[in-house]
Amino acid sequence: MPAVNLLEFDREALTAWCAGLGEKPFRAQQLFRWIHQRGERDFTRMSDLARALRDKLASVAEVRAPTQVSEHRSADGTVKWLFDVGGGNVIETVFIPEEDRGTLCISSQAGCAVGCRFCSTGHQGFSRNLTTAEILGQLWHAEHALHGPLGLAAGERAITNVVMMGMGEPLQNYAALLPALRVMLDDHGYGLSRRRVTVSTSGMTRMIDRLREDCPVALAVSLHAATNALRDALVPLNRKHDLADLMQACHDYLARAPRDFITFEYCMLDGVNDSPEHARELIDLVHGRGGAAVAGLRVPCKINLIPFNPFPGSGLACSPRARVQDFAQQLRTAGLVTTIRKTRGDDIDAACGQLAGAVSDRTNVRVRLQRRREDPAQGVLAHRAAGAAVRAGAGE
Ligand code: SF4
Repeated sequence: MPAVNLLEFDREALTAWCAGLGEKPFRAQQLFRWIHQRGERDFTRMSDLARALRDKLASVAEVRAPTQVSEHRSADGTVKWLFDVGGGNVIETVFIPEEDRGTLCISSQAGCAVGCRFCSTGHQGFSRNLTTAEILGQLWHAEHALHGPLGLAAGERAITNVVMMGMGEPLQNYAALLPALRVMLDDHGYGLSRRRVTVSTSGMTRMIDRLREDCPVALAVSLHAATNALRDALVPLNRKHDLADLMQACHDYLARAPRDFITFEYCMLDGVNDSPEHARELIDLVHGRGGAAVAGLRVPCKINLIPFNPFPGSGLACSPRARVQDFAQQLRTAGLVTTIRKTRGDDIDAACGQLAGAVSDRTNVRVRLQRRREDPAQGVLAHRAAGAAVRAGAGE
């Protein structure tokens, strides 16, 4: 019988599994702390467990994170790991150190089926959902790989924040995501506060509702456009969950959210979504005005503008710096808290939107992308991008 990977369990599930071995709940708690707080995978070294239990665990269980393929360190301190999750799939995980925090960006799927137009993961297609052990294994591996080199004392954490913003749409893998989030928040696990764990979604509204009820952590939404016509072209999921639906879900989420705002991510694409008119549409949307909004429904938010990181075949370019600044200023003038994301780790292809890994695509993504390029909604996008290229050539 294959060994049971204990990274698959939150504490409740581990307690139930240990009960099946005839062990009391406090034994499960000890085991859980060994695994997640001390990063121990060798049962023989779990010194406060009875010898008989250690022997039993060694014969039926394991603590197995995905296999590290490589580790790259950027000049700015960013670290990127590639992990082999089998079947020709390699996923990516990125650590971003800042003065007052260390953030780990975790993948939830091998590839992604959503296929956002500007995302290099989306262009690779989709292979499969990651298991809880593969999601949590990224955190387990990174925390213990960083702890020693950073010279941290026992009990100190290298990773203070987690963002589910790596490869994949986390809310399309909800069953595996939920136990992983619970372990991150568990005081006997990683002990992160709900404010320091962020799930980023492209807008799966019914799953946002479920997350609100089950485990309301901080929420970020990949918005990128404030009209349905443009968002349909950039984020295909919008055709199913339109902006009115999304704004309602975001508004309702705040009733249980650990922060009093939603973060809206907005990737700045040259000539596509970066004009003063687009900024005005965005202001209207979050203030509950205009055609795409729910009339009168304001969504308290922060806007995070992300300079687009080009990748081969995207056919898109990043907005010029001055236009990003102007766009931000227009939002700020309208009273919206707005940040421009600093690019980190671009010397190791670890910047936002560059995570690609390697994916054995089971979704025939190239055919779908071709179809979308021929779609009338994509025509709007292609036309705007072409217009931008022409204007850039004319020195605008
Ligand atoms: S932006 Fe997120 S949801 Fe969209 S394709 Fe990329 S990974 Fe998937």
